[in-house]
Amino acid sequence: MAAVIPKITKLSSLITRVLGCNPGPMTLQGTNTYLIGTGKRRVLVDAGQSGVPEYINNLSNVLDSEGCELSDIIVTHWHADHIGGVPDILRNLSYVPKIHKYPRSDKPEPDIGKIDVIPLVDGQKFDVEGASVEVLHTPGHTTDHVVLHVKEENVLLSADCILGEGTAVFEDLHSYMMSLDKILKLAPAVIYPGHGPIVQDPVSKIEYYIKHRLQRESQIVEVLTASDNPLTSMELVKIVYKETPVHLHPVAKVNLEHHLNKLVKDGKVEQMDEKWKIV
Ligand SMILES: [Zn+2]
Repeated sequence: MAAVIPKITKLSSLITRVLGCNPGPMTLQGTNTYLIGTGKRRVLVDAGQSGVPEYINNLSNVLDSEGCELSDIIVTHWHADHIGGVPDILRNLSYVPKIHKYPRSDKPEPDIGKIDVIPLVDGQKFDVEGASVEVLHTPGHTTDHVVLHVKEENVLLSADCILGEGTAVFEDLHSYMMSLDKILKLAPAVIYPGHGPIVQDPVSKIEYYIKHRLQRESQIVEVLTASDNPLTSMELVKIVYKETPVHLHPVAKVNLEHHLNKLVKDGKVEQMDEKWKIV
């Protein structure tokens, strides 16, 4: 069990974490939101979920006690536990901060009412007093996912790309792995995730994760290469995940197909009807 995350934590002179107070199986202890900057005008990263007065109160207490306002709210991706709180936050303010999010490429944006959302661009920079924040598009978890790099402290706000506990979920393994590479190149000193506690020593954690995925991938390639006939996903599961209990094979199949779709994109595997074969 991970350590309890306090509702409000001043992580450094630059960054304060405000817990979304929306615990659940997918959100763990809740969504972590982060207030960045040292001056009167600050940037909030993620807005928690809709209908959580405790979070709205905690956030406005922080703003009051620090004597600051929100100039911008950056939403890391379209999921309800990150964007849902935006209308509630705005309703509670006497001014209007700018709302930013990277556009989705798969489906329409979620409905958050009549709120202008300014599209983020990969590499975009936000200069707040005390901190410069760079936006990096890191698809995989979702198509619109971004992480934020705070230069002064070499901190990466990873949102749902890397979690503080458990394993990240993703829609597309191919882009997810490329996003991990992108984060690795930054070599962040520490990661502040969207859920769960702070990740110390993130570089070795990401390297381990990539290695584990690549091992699974080469195992799949080996089995397909050795097979005389194309194989179905379930036939592959029975070989590749033979140490996994049978009742978990349907879950393993989902993982395996993530790998297979990535291998198709890499040009190493081909899908014919319901079967897979090596190129
Ligand atoms: Zn989330």
